[in-house]
Amino acid sequence: MKVGILALQGDFREHEAVFAAMGVETEYVRRPEELEKVDGLVIPGGESTAISKLLKKWGLFSPLQRRARDGFPVFGTCAGMILMAVEVSNTVPTLELMDISVDRNAYGRQIESFEGELSINGTDSPLSDEAVTGVFIRAPQVSEVRDGVEVLATHEGLPVLLRQDNLLAATFHPELTDNRGIHRYFIDQLVGS
Ligand code: GLN
Repeated sequence: MKVGILALQGDFREHEAVFAAMGVETEYVRRPEELEKVDGLVIPGGESTAISKLLKKWGLFSPLQRRARDGFPVFGTCAGMILMAVEVSNTVPTLELMDISVDRNAYGRQIESFEGELSINGTDSPLSDEAVTGVFIRAPQVSEVRDGVEVLATHEGLPVLLRQDNLLAATFHPELTDNRGIHRYFIDQLVGS
């Protein structure tokens, strides 16, 4: 098993470090041929407008969209989540994969970035053993969750970790804390299934 990390812009190195600590093999993805060789893909945090443009520039946009709609596991954090959403408040061409609406920068400017405790939904969740702190950096808010999307965790009542079949998305940055539970969840529940 090999996990791809989209390495166009953003904090892809931090995701690589988490997987390395877990002993999971990874490969950076920058071209369509590289996408073919991996069993799942992480779309990191960064700037969604930049990542969106680069996906098009490098010919990855349509192949990734097609594969993800066909069941290929994708995990997006922050900007990565924005790129997965079907609808975004502020026009960024997205891959339109997960049936949610998202407001970019909904908490305000950089200075409003914060850390907060997350509530995990369901006592039998594979995530419930871990107290999870979320790092929110110019984070988006999910304004609408439609049928088929499961809310795995919330922060102050707002959905912050969501799953729809082969897709996992976080408004925050699990790659910036020591907790590996969410990366583990992606590997065990989505890539390994
Ligand atoms: N505000 C960024 C965007 O709209 C996301 C920030 C992040 O990934 N930390 O793309």
